[in-house]
Amino acid sequence: MVFHVLTLFPEMIRDGLNTSVTGRALDKGLISLNAVNIRDFSTDKHLHVDDYPYGGGAGMVMQPDPIYRAYRSIVGEGGKRPRVLYMTPQGSVFDQPMAEELAGEEELIFLCGHYEGVDERILEEIVTDYVSIGDYVLTGGELPAMVMIDAISRLVPGVLNNEDSAEFESFHDNLLEHPHYTRPASFLGKEVPEVLLSGHHARIEEWRRQESLKRTYERRPDLLEKAVLDKKDLAYLKSLGYDKT
Ligand code: SAM
Repeated sequence: MVFHVLTLFPEMIRDGLNTSVTGRALDKGLISLNAVNIRDFSTDKHLHVDDYPYGGGAGMVMQPDPIYRAYRSIVGEGGKRPRVLYMTPQGSVFDQPMAEELAGEEELIFLCGHYEGVDERILEEIVTDYVSIGDYVLTGGELPAMVMIDAISRLVPGVLNNEDSAEFESFHDNLLEHPHYTRPASFLGKEVPEVLLSGHHARIEEWRRQESLKRTYERRPDLLEKAVLDKKDLAYLKSLGYDKT
């Protein structure tokens, strides 16, 4: 999977992703990262990439030409065009289903804005998807791109050590994951739930399912509307006070 990032701060992207799980995935060649500095494509003698907004108003706007040249350096002329995701608070909010859908692509291009944003004409020309990471405004698109690349990368086969990990995590079936415990068995007087020490696989699975349902009901009841629940799940949720009607 190849991630191209059009940015004014390529070091931020490289440094941010070159550690831990994504760093190892890059080392192993399971994913690859091409952070392209938009400023390298400025033809201005001072290497400016932004200018005042037409019509007046606060802040600066990123100019279309350097972005277009940077984009062309990735896609060349003709051929198959990877999707271009513009990081913007005005986009669809990124979530796990979107990460799963994007993980099916071979290549993706992320466009990171800065200042007041980007000239609308370049967006119209190259962008296929407008994506936000939440309803708040950040200073730039670099953190959103890194968030998305991290979430997508861990769905690429081989990136997680344990192939099952992603499958049972939060949001995978519109349920939050059950709690985890490790050694010691007793910590500050708090004991690990007995069932987890029992070695009884079926009981452990049932406990985990119920904890997952309870946690989702308590913290994100909105997710339950989309979760696939069987009769047993519904009976358990009803005992907690959940009413599906
Ligand atoms: N003036 C813009 C608006 O009101 O929509 C916000 C510009 S913001 C200060 C600068 C850049 O940060 C944006 O172009 C975008 O790339 C990025 N950005 C800010 N918040 C974001 C969010 N919640 N999700 C994704 N990108 C975001």
